[in-house]
Amino acid sequence: MQFQDFNFTPEILKAIEDMGFEEPSPIQTLAIPPISAGRDVTGQAQTGTGKTAAFGLPLLEKMDPADRNVQAIVLCPTRELAIQVAEEFQKLLKYRRGINVLPVYGGQPIERQLKALRQGVQVVIGTPGRVIDHLERGTLSLNHVKIAVLDEADQMLDMGFREDIETILDETPAKRQMVLFSATMPKPILEISRRFQTNPEFLQVAHREMTVPQVEQSYIEVRERDKLEVLSRLMDIHDPKLALIFCNTKRKVDDLIQHLQTRGYFAEALHGDMKQTQRDRVMAKFRGGSIDILVATDVAARGIDVENVDVVFNFDVPQDTEYYVHRIGRTARAGRAGMAITFVAPKEIYKLREIQKFANIRITKIPVPTLTDVE
Ligand code: ADP
Ligand code: MG
Repeated sequence: MQFQDFNFTPEILKAIEDMGFEEPSPIQTLAIPPISAGRDVTGQAQTGTGKTAAFGLPLLEKMDPADRNVQAIVLCPTRELAIQVAEEFQKLLKYRRGINVLPVYGGQPIERQLKALRQGVQVVIGTPGRVIDHLERGTLSLNHVKIAVLDEADQMLDMGFREDIETILDETPAKRQMVLFSATMPKPILEISRRFQTNPEFLQVAHREMTVPQVEQSYIEVRERDKLEVLSRLMDIHDPKLALIFCNTKRKVDDLIQHLQTRGYFAEALHGDMKQTQRDRVMAKFRGGSIDILVATDVAARGIDVENVDVVFNFDVPQDTEYYVHRIGRTARAGRAGMAITFVAPKEIYKLREIQKFANIRITKIPVPTLTDVE
């Protein structure tokens, strides 16, 4: 699935590209089509899965710049989140004129918000308390709202906003669209859904920790031609019982295997071109300890569950965050400590930044080991 597969305007697509989003996240893939189509959606997904753009993209595409009324309301639990969502929306609107976004939250002088509202705002992103404030003062009208979003709904309920949320939704037209996102789905959320949504689509992305906390994650900046040398130094330093090395292509897997075998390592390949019986044989050797290095592609490694992998090497930076998470999830299983080292060519540093941002993790830079580090 690509962002181009959704019916977005070129301006929005360009903004997505500027933001460095290469492809939609799972929740985006699931949620964008029904939200674009006008359906009510209730989505369950953990933080860091890209929910803001999942509702933000279709929402912003629905806004009519010629209409100065508030057309969308997004409710968030805290001012920080309201500001964060507003900032993400501004980035998505980089090339689109005439759509104004306003975060409204407590703690900021209400006068500034009043002034902005008078000038015409189509998208209001607010905390329930402050939105109620405006409704009571008559400074905000939700009569023209086409779409309402509850972001982090469970957190809002935990903070005691249930009544406020209901009051706010009651102020919106009955036929407006409603989208609800929440990390968990306790009963009160389902009740809100039942009361305010019409035939909602329920979506869920599988609960999965973005990363395994016991994995020590680091990267090394290394040019392509030096990777092999650095790899063998690291193997000699850490002397892993079982190492799993990932390459992005079958060809690179085969090349690397050859080099490693030439250097005396007990290594075997695992990739999609191999017959199942061959793969089983390699896995049996790996489990039995007669080889201690497995070099694999992402497809081949999917679902393999090997105990005692102490180091995962990303010989190539994975093509997306999902793969990164999958790869490093191969180590530190069952609570054991593990290590993941990613090789990054200087021109690929941006990819690593994306992974860190999207998976909400820190990957620490470590220096290239010198020969004296090897005993
Ligand atoms: P959530 O609301 O689910 O916690 P966010 O919407 O805040 O997650 O997204 C987390 C981070 O991931 C943000 O920095 C966002 O810009 C980034 N992000 C969102 N979608 C994508 C994507 N498709 N590709 C890369 N990064 C993305
Ligand atoms: Mg969010």
